[in-house]
Amino acid sequence: MLRLIRQRLVYKLFLSYLFIILIGIIVLAASAEFAIPAAFDHHLSAMMGDQRMGMGMGMSMMDDLYGNYRNAVSEALTRAALAAVFAAVIVSVFVSRKVVAPVKEMMRASQRIAEGKYGERVDVPSSQINGGLDELSQLALAFNRMANVLEQTEQMRIQMIGDVSHELRTPLTTIQGNMEGLMDGVLEADQRTYQVIYQEAGRMKRLVDDLQELSRVEAGAFTLDLNPVSVLDLVDEVKDRLQPQFDEKDIKLFTDVQGDIPLVLADRDRIVQVLLNLVGNALQYTPPGREVTISVHQNGGDVLVEVKDSGIGISPEHISNLFTRFYRVDKSRSRAGGGSGIGLTISKHLIEAHGGRIWAQSHGFGEGSTFTFALPVDRSDHSKS
Ligand code: ADP
Repeated sequence: MLRLIRQRLVYKLFLSYLFIILIGIIVLAASAEFAIPAAFDHHLSAMMGDQRMGMGMGMSMMDDLYGNYRNAVSEALTRAALAAVFAAVIVSVFVSRKVVAPVKEMMRASQRIAEGKYGERVDVPSSQINGGLDELSQLALAFNRMANVLEQTEQMRIQMIGDVSHELRTPLTTIQGNMEGLMDGVLEADQRTYQVIYQEAGRMKRLVDDLQELSRVEAGAFTLDLNPVSVLDLVDEVKDRLQPQFDEKDIKLFTDVQGDIPLVLADRDRIVQVLLNLVGNALQYTPPGREVTISVHQNGGDVLVEVKDSGIGISPEHISNLFTRFYRVDKSRSRAGGGSGIGLTISKHLIEAHGGRIWAQSHGFGEGSTFTFALPVDRSDHSKS
């Protein structure tokens, strides 16, 4: 019995209503027993006053009157109690149906999701959406949101396997083709052939390294060696490292520092890695003769680093996906440049691990792009803040 009550919401609701009705009856019965006689006497005396005596109303008549009144009250109480119990049964069945039906639907949907049917959703009546959501509808909406995320994650997992095999197949096919050519004597065993094989092997190694790094940062399996760091030093370091490639492509690389820049608490190698990714992308996606600017300034409690290029730009519909792994705006172009669409995903994880944010802006294709990251100022640095 107790188990049945525990398992069924309808019984729990009914018992709670019954409990409230019981309290009501006890209070009413107690007041009928203790408070009403005196009140009855008091009101009757006030009403009739001396008439009682004049009319010769004796004590026995008063008792009769009171006895009848008491019976009437008890009768009314019993009827009210029966009506209340009946109402409790109806209301508890109705409410439990209202509550249990959507909960059962969510249970069924979650079971189907567990079986791998990720398209499963629960209904939220549109009247509820327009007229304000109760807790159950909010739960249903949260459930649907969770199902959306699960579905996306699953799709990304499937796409990732496809992308990785595709990315590995391209260099592997080239290496295999060249090796076959060498074995058949179709290709000459010269510097050029070895160079192609070497480059493709390098491409595969880069991809495997990127994948390993991606899985590490996505799993949070890395530690940050946090120290007070000057972002300006890191920008200078990256500028020095990439300057020869900018010179080679005839792109000007500028830095622009506004005001005093406080230190940030950061892992310098990780921030250099992010800067290399952003400035390297700017170099890759900017045509010769144009320019790239790295600017640094403080904005409230953050140090902002902006990498602005005058390159091919990004159409608005791509902006929100740039930080998704393997996402490339122009797949053929970035693949030819060795890009696998992983760099920005890694950068995002690294910046967020520092408690910062990273985002991209562009006025559209051909309009250049700006990638910005914000790192919180080191609170222990009192020298400049
Ligand atoms: P990739 O290794 O392909 O460059 P990223 O994750 O660093 O990978 O970048 C993802 C995609 O974002 C690139 O393939 C490119 O389409 C786009 N992108 C990144 N930076 C720029 C930029 N400065 N200008 C235009 N497109 C960019």
